[in-house]
Amino acid sequence: MSTFFEQTQTLVKRAADVLGLSAEMLTRLNTPDRVLEFELSVRMDDGTEKKFPAWRVQHNNALGPYKGGIRFHQDSNLDEVKALASLMTWKTSLMGIPYGGAKGAVVVDPRSLSARELEELSRSYVRAVAQYIGPDKDVPAPDVGTNAQIMEWMVDEYEKIVGKPSPAAFTGKPIEKGGSHGREEATGFGGYVIIKEYMARKTFADTGENITAAIQGFGNVGQNIASFLYRHGLKIIAVSDSKGGLCEPEGINIPRLLEIKEKTGIIDRNKCYALSAHQMLCRDCSNASLLVIKTDILIPAALENQITEINAPDVKAKVILEMANGPVTPEAEGLLLGKGVEIIPDILANGGGVVGSYFEWMQSRANDYWPKDRVLQAIEEKMKVAFRDVANTKGTHGVSWREAAYIRALGRVVQAMK
Ligand code: NAD
Repeated sequence: MSTFFEQTQTLVKRAADVLGLSAEMLTRLNTPDRVLEFELSVRMDDGTEKKFPAWRVQHNNALGPYKGGIRFHQDSNLDEVKALASLMTWKTSLMGIPYGGAKGAVVVDPRSLSARELEELSRSYVRAVAQYIGPDKDVPAPDVGTNAQIMEWMVDEYEKIVGKPSPAAFTGKPIEKGGSHGREEATGFGGYVIIKEYMARKTFADTGENITAAIQGFGNVGQNIASFLYRHGLKIIAVSDSKGGLCEPEGINIPRLLEIKEKTGIIDRNKCYALSAHQMLCRDCSNASLLVIKTDILIPAALENQITEINAPDVKAKVILEMANGPVTPEAEGLLLGKGVEIIPDILANGGGVVGSYFEWMQSRANDYWPKDRVLQAIEEKMKVAFRDVANTKGTHGVSWREAAYIRALGRVVQAMK
């Protein structure tokens, strides 16, 4: 199987071929501008010193400052960071915002650290990259394993280094520290806007039932999209996280599940009776079975490479909304498209997060606070324009949603580079 970065390069090459780009331009588009690689040292609570491999990859800044999250995960590696940085370039371009693409990561399971160790690790990451980041250079944000608290530590460390307030150097901050209302739900909300736009063009009427969705990953993105879809009247028939999952053919009561997860930290099957009137049907659901459940919409919202050539033949969804980055491998995509499954690609589906970050950055630069409604409305407008652009490009070139999204995204970046 090709690596995640190789998969991303293949997607870029396909779009470059359609656009008739030169081999030289393709090489530039597929090569990061800068790869920073370092080891972070943290004094642990037991007095020992521990080293953590870390990276920041700045992929392309033709359209504006580099932009992208920092991931804290035990399985992170450079290939993944390069792929994710490249995806950010295409996503920001597709969303029509003035940013390039970047990504960072630290190899660590953040749950294994104390709060003090986590703070020390976050601050030492900033010390390592400080000269390469800033509001006009590279603006990091949270990703898997990082959150608003970590951004607060990071921006504080950055401000100490530069000797002045600089809230626009990071996004995803707590509201009271220059964060934005609506940023927390921005990615889930954006995905909800995209699937609504998609559903408005398609008919699911042949099922004769309510529209169903299954969601893998119940963190920031999974929980928020579940809430918006639930409020919109969709039936969420399965959810899962790294510890397990829950299937309920009659639909899960999402607000209730969120309360239970808040209290217990897990998606608790034993509390299932509280989630549905159809308690007898409520059952454990592994991640493997969730991905092949019979549903209208399948929403991978955890990590990459979840749908591969192994499980793709068994996928029964009509449409896959990629809320995670890179959850469907190219081999799987070939099989799925052959079966008539449509795939709304990550750079379109989860672009709401970076759009929300962009509005936070604007507010931080202007020392302003927008109300949540204004932020969500602004995100909705950007998402709708991006969806229409991709749908039109798809129609013009007769290609898949993913190819159309890349053609659109590359076009803007190449124009700026020229
Ligand atoms: P998160 O850390 O808040 O949540 C991740 C969730 O995935 C958790 O519920 C975790 O338990 C679950 N998970 C981990 N491994 C799993 C596995 N093998 N099977 C099932 N579930 C598993 O992260 P998040 O911010 O929700 O991000 C999720 C995905 O969305 C990532 O791919 C991320 O890059 C992407 N994304 C996030 C944002 C954002 O704004 N947070 C924006 C764009 C894209």
